[in-house]
Amino acid sequence: MTAATEYLARRHRNFIGGEWCEAQDGRTIGSYDPATGQEHAQIPRSSAVDVADAVAAARTAFESDAWAQLKPADRQRLLLRLADRVEAAADELIELESRDNGKPLAEAEIDVNGALGYMRYMAGWATKIDGRTSNLSAPGAHFAYTLKEPVGVVGGIIPWNFPLGMACWKIVPELVTGCTVILKPAEQTSITALRLAELVQEAGYLPGTVNVVTGLGHEAGAALAEHPGIDKIAFTGSTKIGKQIAAAAANNLVRSTLELGGKSPVLVLDDCDIDEAAAGAAAAIFFNQGQVCCAGSRLMVHEKIYDKVVAKVADLADAIKLAPGTDPGCEMGPLVSDRQRNRVADYIRLGSEEGAEVATSRRTVEGPGYFLAPTVLADTSNDMRVVKEEIFGPVLVAAPMKDGADIAAIANDTPYGLGASIWSNDLSRVHKLVPKIKAGNVWVNTHNVVDPSLPFGGYKASGYGRELGPEQLDAYVQTKSVWISL
Ligand code: ADP
Repeated sequence: MTAATEYLARRHRNFIGGEWCEAQDGRTIGSYDPATGQEHAQIPRSSAVDVADAVAAARTAFESDAWAQLKPADRQRLLLRLADRVEAAADELIELESRDNGKPLAEAEIDVNGALGYMRYMAGWATKIDGRTSNLSAPGAHFAYTLKEPVGVVGGIIPWNFPLGMACWKIVPELVTGCTVILKPAEQTSITALRLAELVQEAGYLPGTVNVVTGLGHEAGAALAEHPGIDKIAFTGSTKIGKQIAAAAANNLVRSTLELGGKSPVLVLDDCDIDEAAAGAAAAIFFNQGQVCCAGSRLMVHEKIYDKVVAKVADLADAIKLAPGTDPGCEMGPLVSDRQRNRVADYIRLGSEEGAEVATSRRTVEGPGYFLAPTVLADTSNDMRVVKEEIFGPVLVAAPMKDGADIAAIANDTPYGLGASIWSNDLSRVHKLVPKIKAGNVWVNTHNVVDPSLPFGGYKASGYGRELGPEQLDAYVQTKSVWISL
């Protein structure tokens, strides 16, 4: 029996104030294996009282001397110790993630390695968060300086597409800056967040610095976002729920950072390397079963090479091996849930009804589990719903761009602004185009790459605030100006 199998069979509980506890009313939710549709674990279905307990525990920890007086070097050391624990449990975490989310083991491994790199990068910032002195022109004699102080108790709400990675993106900034956190993972994929909480405990964090409360969005999630005891809410998820989170934060006058949906264009110019662009476009949409906020979901190709590129992407899609995530040969796993599979399948039907041409030949997938054939919808137009709305699955919409067309205008013709990629070998064209694209991430001859040192986030309906890089930490500290009359 693997460590992951043993862990799944255990009783799963919330982690509040350093204790493991059931939801107070004892309710649970089933967690399903997307490859079989079978329930493989139960997690607490927490309600507002459980969330209130977690907020109180996080507040107590935040106000405690033991946490507040930790030296920056101690916070760095603790976080590096947590990273070591995660690394030691990597194989188990990879298997758990693949079984709980459905993603291929190889992609779960990318997630775990990414989380490790992120933790270790961020640990270095704990000792580098400084205020400054100021050369004053005010009358009189003063000495003045600024202090960077942790913002306080933070609520983190995350989606199901990168469960462990997102959990880290939402707890690490607190551990670096001296905040405390209540994490509400997605109800579909809470397993690795709970396992991470055990590793937090083993690493020696003070009880209450990290709390994990599982449950449904409109129950535990809404209770957390609306709780007056939090000082900031960090959310990753849909634009629809993001607006509710922003409203809840505004109501309590606390900060929010929102990393929301996208409909990121892949702009293929006529001077590109066609094979590279086609392979890149396929990877941009099909990675992680297309369940990626910055997925390259809108393929726009110069008319001269449009047929060729679309045919190549469709061939690549048809060749992808679909299998349970834990199958070593798996190239694409099932979608996360029955609901998500049906939602995406409805969009494929809608695309045909709207007049798109299905360029891929695989239509159905045998067997149990929430599998869906990767699909390319060709000859789409911007007024179609499949082009305007985020599908969040392995479905690419494609359209030709006329010679001389305004490429930036085409790229920006969407409410979203998370990512865009440009495929071209003309450096001058690329450099002129980049500043015109209204998106938080622009990739050239690649797509979907991230690094702990470079901020990630959106423009427009894709949200505000940045994850990763020193910019992420700005949202977790506040600045105090101190005046001393001399
Ligand atoms: P999806 O539709 O892809 O599941 P959501 O934005 O609904 O994306 O979910 C992202 C996260 O937000 C999940 O953890 C979910 O439980 C949570 N959530 C959903 N609805 C709410 C809500 N009304 N208030 C707070 N959190 C919510």
